[in-house]
Amino acid sequence: MSSKSHHAIQPVGESAAISEQGPPPLVIVEGFLGGFGTQTRWGDFQNHWTDDSMAGGSSRRRRAIFVSVGPVSSLHDRACELFYALKGGTIDYGAEHAAHHGHTTQYGRTIVGSYPEWSKEKPLHFLGHSFGGPTITKMQWLLETGFFGEAYGPDMLLSVNTVSSPFRGTSVVYLLGERVDAAPLVRFWSVGNAITKVVHIISYLSPWTASHMDFHTESRGYSCREASFWSLIKTLWRSDWAESRDIAPYDCTYVSADTREAMGEGAVNPNTFYRSYAASWSTMKNGKFKPPAKDFWEEPVLYHYATPIANFDFMAVRPVPSFVAAMGEDIKVGGEGSEVYRENDGVVPRFSQWHPLPCKQTKCEHFHHSDLTNPSLSSSRENLGVENGSQTLPSPGKWYVYELRKAHHGSIAPTWLDTPRQRAFWKELGRWLRDVDLASGHCSSLAPM
Ligand SMILES: [Zn+2]
Ligand SMILES: [Zn+2]
Repeated sequence: MSSKSHHAIQPVGESAAISEQGPPPLVIVEGFLGGFGTQTRWGDFQNHWTDDSMAGGSSRRRRAIFVSVGPVSSLHDRACELFYALKGGTIDYGAEHAAHHGHTTQYGRTIVGSYPEWSKEKPLHFLGHSFGGPTITKMQWLLETGFFGEAYGPDMLLSVNTVSSPFRGTSVVYLLGERVDAAPLVRFWSVGNAITKVVHIISYLSPWTASHMDFHTESRGYSCREASFWSLIKTLWRSDWAESRDIAPYDCTYVSADTREAMGEGAVNPNTFYRSYAASWSTMKNGKFKPPAKDFWEEPVLYHYATPIANFDFMAVRPVPSFVAAMGEDIKVGGEGSEVYRENDGVVPRFSQWHPLPCKQTKCEHFHHSDLTNPSLSSSRENLGVENGSQTLPSPGKWYVYELRKAHHGSIAPTWLDTPRQRAFWKELGRWLRDVDLASGHCSSLAPM
């Protein structure tokens, strides 16, 4: 039934008429350094989720909306950009936030919204890869706290789906340059510092580079239209932005995650459906973690970081992360229960990919590893509550956590490789979204399977 043709994909910005008839669209938010060549890279995944909804014809297809948010920006800034990318209008980062965090103006660009009708009555599904996940939960927190105004609230998110997201921080930011003892300071000789310099140069040249590499820095006054060449040189020597608390790497530290959680950020909204996929490349065996050698050429950079992430010295982090305090000596390699903090997908440890907050402080249900390689997905369907042919629909207000075995940070997204696992993932996600539509009454007469 499903068309394999690339031409069948609906372009972004399709008329609102279709979205009114079809099921709620899925908004896709990319991770750190994401956003370059997005739609080409994500490929024809939409042709793999449509089997269930084809009965109504192509107008019943679920629309996918890609949004562009700052590839290295903080969760706060990205969450604001995400909101306005959908609703439309001039991005407002908030006067207080802008003044405290070195924005030269509280306003960003003016955007034509991809889904201006977005509301509690017309909510959206969201999918975040990596840092895109916490971007979505941050936006829900801002909606919850009235940041965008009283007219908007957390029920505007029908579902939150995440893949390999660093909700509770990740050790890799320290390996890349963040000081373990003094974040947000960054080591001078580090990969992170080198990335910063590239970002500043591209932002300085943004009048010409923005159409290819858009770092969304217009509210910081870094472009050559606003900043002198001398100020660029000073920034390259030492970047106030890179060593601030308003940038992505800092938001991936354990201290930033603890700060957010201490305020209650990341608690589930009772009317939103949540699902996360936690990937691990290998398992800890006898205190050792090593991805399969055959995967080296697939992801050499992630391969390089996987073992150091597993061996990371949590005891050196200051202030002491809450989970380290709770684990004590057991956080060390070989400690009882330490595996979930050490097994990783080459970027993020398993525990951080589950959901914000510790399990005891949120609502969650964890499912055993599923390698999602079997297109029939019988085991996953059982996990969803399909037994003896009778279907149990998912419940809102809790995280459904799925562990992906032998998977790295890029196994599912963002690059479409047309692997059996990717095809199975999208097919199953399509079913899950349909189940959520049914359970929440946002289903417009889809045919039964
Ligand atoms: Zn900011
Ligand atoms: Zn949990």
